[in-house]
Amino acid sequence: MLDDTLRDAGEEVWLRVEQPIVGIHGSPLAECLGLLAAERRVCLERLVDDLIKQLILVHIVQMERTKEVVREADLVLADASNGFDMAEGLNIFRPDRHFMEAYGDFAQERGISSVLEGLARPWEDEQERWGFLARFAKTEWLGYEPSRAMQSLQKIIGTRPYFILTCNIDGRFARAGLDEKQALETEGTIQELSCSAGCSEERIDAEPVFAGMAKAGGMKVPEELLSTCKRCGAPLVPALDERRVLHPDLAFKERTARFSELLREAKGKNVLVL
Ligand SMILES: [Zn+2]
Repeated sequence: MLDDTLRDAGEEVWLRVEQPIVGIHGSPLAECLGLLAAERRVCLERLVDDLIKQLILVHIVQMERTKEVVREADLVLADASNGFDMAEGLNIFRPDRHFMEAYGDFAQERGISSVLEGLARPWEDEQERWGFLARFAKTEWLGYEPSRAMQSLQKIIGTRPYFILTCNIDGRFARAGLDEKQALETEGTIQELSCSAGCSEERIDAEPVFAGMAKAGGMKVPEELLSTCKRCGAPLVPALDERRVLHPDLAFKERTARFSELLREAKGKNVLVL
C-alpha cells in the first residue's frame, strides 16, 4: 500500500520540490512523508531512513524514462545536496549502520553521533580532529564506489555539457569521473587543503595527505603527518566553508564564472535541471 502510494506520489512530489532535500525537516517532501508516516503510525525519521533511498531512485528512474526530455536537453544542471548522498547510502545526520561500521570507534570512545558532528565538532586535540577528517576522506571520498544514482546521473549527462551545484563536500562527482571544474561546491570540498592563516587563495591537493593519514589508521593522526603552509608555516586545513558563497576564493570564483558562461551559452536552449 505504502509502496503504491509512493510510486504514485513520487513524480509529483519531486516535481514540486524544486531542489533535492536540504535536511529532512521543513521541506515539502518532509510534509508529504509526514502524512505517510501518520498513515502508517511510524516515526517520520524511521520512515525516511527506510524510504529515502528508494524515493530518490524512483525520481531518477523516472527521469530516465522521460527519454525525450533528456534527449532534447542541451545542458544538464545537477543540483545535488544531502539527498544525493543519502541516495548513495551516506546520511551525515544519523548514526545509521554505515556510520557505526565506519566511525563506530569515534561513537564509542568520543560520543560522536553523526558524520556531521564529527566534521563540525570543535575538537580540542588537532590530531584527533584530523583522525576524524582522515576517516571521512578515506571512507566517503578516496574509497568511494559510484552508486546506481551516480551511474544514472552520468548516463543522463552522456556527452552533453553539464554543471553540478552541490553542498556535498565529499568530492564524489570528481571521484566518479565527472570534471571537477564543472562543479561548484557551495560549502567547499575535502579534496583540497588551504592555508588556515589565509596567506594565499591557493588550494592544495589533499589526496596524498589523506592517503598517508589513512595508511597510518587509528583515531589520532601522528603529529608528523599534519601539514603546514609552505609560504607562512601556518597549519593547512581542508578547504571547507559552509558559507563559501559569502567567502569566495579563487577556485570558487573561477567555477562561478564557468557556470555563468554555460548559462549564457545555453540561452534559448533546453536546460535540464535535476
Ligand atoms: Zn600560509
